[in-house]
Amino acid sequence: MAEARSRQVIIAGGGVAGLTAALSFAIRGYPVSVFERAPRLDEVGAGLQLSPNATCILDRLGVLSGLRKAAVRPEAVVLRDAASLAELGRVPLGAAAEIRWKAPYLTAHRSDLQGALLAHVLREPGIQFVTGATVRDAAPHPLGVTVSVETAGQIEKVSGMMLVVADGVWSDLRRLAGARTKSSFAGQVAWRRTIRADSAAGRALAAIGAGGVVNAFLAPGFHLITYPVKAGSALNIVAFTSGHLATETWAATMDNAVLKSAMRNTAPALLALAEDVGEWTVWPIYSMPSGPWTAPSGIALVGDAAHAMTPYAAQGAAMAIEDAETLAGHVLARPNSLSAALASWETERRKRIEKVARRGSFNRFTWHAAGPVAVARNLALRLQKPEKLASSLDWLYGWTPPER
Ligand SMILES: Cc1cc2nc3c(=O)[nH]c(=O)nc-3n(C[C@H](O)[C@H](O)[C@H](O)COP(=O)(O)OP(=O)(O)OC[C@H]3O[C@@H](n4cnc5c(N)ncnc54)[C@H](O)[C@@H]3O)c2cc1C
Repeated sequence: MAEARSRQVIIAGGGVAGLTAALSFAIRGYPVSVFERAPRLDEVGAGLQLSPNATCILDRLGVLSGLRKAAVRPEAVVLRDAASLAELGRVPLGAAAEIRWKAPYLTAHRSDLQGALLAHVLREPGIQFVTGATVRDAAPHPLGVTVSVETAGQIEKVSGMMLVVADGVWSDLRRLAGARTKSSFAGQVAWRRTIRADSAAGRALAAIGAGGVVNAFLAPGFHLITYPVKAGSALNIVAFTSGHLATETWAATMDNAVLKSAMRNTAPALLALAEDVGEWTVWPIYSMPSGPWTAPSGIALVGDAAHAMTPYAAQGAAMAIEDAETLAGHVLARPNSLSAALASWETERRKRIEKVARRGSFNRFTWHAAGPVAVARNLALRLQKPEKLASSLDWLYGWTPPER
């Protein structure tokens, strides 16, 4: 008798995409193994924005209620002129977002999101979660894929129905879907710092209206975002400048003279932050060239491994969560043809991801504008009612995954 195809799903990477994929497959009855390279999931990273298109999935997976305790539901996104600090436009969030888009808009520390996902993964009997385990390779065969996993210098072969590649922006494994190139440095860096809300810098930010909302301070060639995290006890600050830091790390440092120079025309209260908040952590911003996201033999790339994008639409984590949930839905919907399931998933996701990436490029262009373009932007923003700005985001935040 022919051997049956296993239903085992193997996941490479225990970040936001990998953990969400584990839960999304497990609740559909698939046995799952997650292999994470890091020896343990530490408190690393800074803040993340989680729009309703992502939180509705976290709710479906049972993760949202735990996350809410550590996250914050900001009242608005406020766009401000970084020089005058004047408000240019406002997207209402808080209860208004929850009514409009049927799920909350949250800001959270990355470790709180990863921790909330992990707590559920560890409770789920159908999921095996292994740390200190690096996925090195995968070989397709007629019944699925055999994955090589390295743990403590030993290679183990693990077989399953499919491999979900969720190894992040510096993905080595995207080649398994036929992608020929890796991500490349976008020439910009993000300066980030998480400070206590009751510190002198935190109080100074609150004094200029930065408490309880997501603020985007716009200046030519530069913008700075602040929002609360850790149940409001901390503020996440991230500033975007051009820069040269082509290192693959989330935790580099850099001379803050570069930041001060980029902020030279901002209001004194903002400029003071460059000094006052202590040492900034600097990330290089990488983006992914286009390439295939699936191989019919049973490989699917999700999250940053597929389509890392510049962070100007604040959708990196949200797209990873959407990818994971929709992938499991497509696979379940076509139990007799994995290749057809992967092809239909990729087609559906490409349309949305490309639209989100275009929105990010548009935000960068308008937020960093100078001269007459900035004047026109400010006028257009001031004329738009908050309700109108919110409605322009319905396609993004009001999206929900199909029930599968
Ligand atoms: C340490 C860290 C800190 C971050 N901090 C922030 C932040 O503060 N704000 C923000 O907006 N975004 C942050 N990000 C990025 C953000 O998490 C992602 O953009 C987004 O959530 C998409 O997640 P992902 O799961 O695709 O990738 P990631 O979150 O990058 O996860 C990829 C995971 O795969 C693991 N991995 C890599 N190679 C292998 C392999 N061969 N085998 C097994 N495991 C492997 C990595 O260790 C990592 O845990 C951070 C990512 C990391 C890894």
